[in-house]
Amino acid sequence: MSAELGQQLRGLRESVARLHGELTRYGLVAWTSGNVSARVPGQDLMVIKPSGIDYDDLAPENMVVCDLDGLVVEGDFAPSSDTAAHAYVYRAMPEVGGVVHTHSGYATAWAARGESIPCHLTAQADEFGGEIPIGPFALIGGDDIGKGIVATLAGHRSPAVLMRNHGVFTIGRDARAAVKAAVMCEDIARTAHLTRALGEPLPMAPADIDALYERYQNVYGQRSPSPASH
Ligand SMILES: [Zn+2]
Repeated sequence: MSAELGQQLRGLRESVARLHGELTRYGLVAWTSGNVSARVPGQDLMVIKPSGIDYDDLAPENMVVCDLDGLVVEGDFAPSSDTAAHAYVYRAMPEVGGVVHTHSGYATAWAARGESIPCHLTAQADEFGGEIPIGPFALIGGDDIGKGIVATLAGHRSPAVLMRNHGVFTIGRDARAAVKAAVMCEDIARTAHLTRALGEPLPMAPADIDALYERYQNVYGQRSPSPASH
């Protein structure tokens, strides 16, 4: 292994371990469920959570490095039982640099009923560009979950899919973006649940959803100055 790859893996082990703290901070996971992974840029490798380790004990040194077939390349622990699904997403979607899986309560309640979350909120238009879609039912173990995630998200604006009777998978350009999508998905699902409980949500015009999404994705937030401005 080159010194450069070793340094890259150390950095990703640290960031993936730390990002798991966001899943507990936002109440998205119970016991040892849920997982975060990151693609190793330029390599057919990923860094993922070990299976069955308490969240309090997750640390850079117990993260697992796998190839994109889910086989362990470096690490002392078995990787997450969802490794095959993460690996399938990285193989099929080269633009994806991070994947997150949770059974967060409100979003999973929509998944249990097989209902996508329609877009009735500006925050949902910003982050998801429309509905948060439902993916198929799939059993854990082979490529079925990964196939269902990719088939649902390919060509969709949403970085989150509600896998039927199961839970949430999110993608991002890196692991932090995928974690943000998981946090926002649960926030939206909760508000959508409360809205449905209170009555009928008001519709939003598709053109307004498009405009919000375009602005948020391209204008919102801190922009690093372009080289021309120096
Ligand atoms: Zn699961």
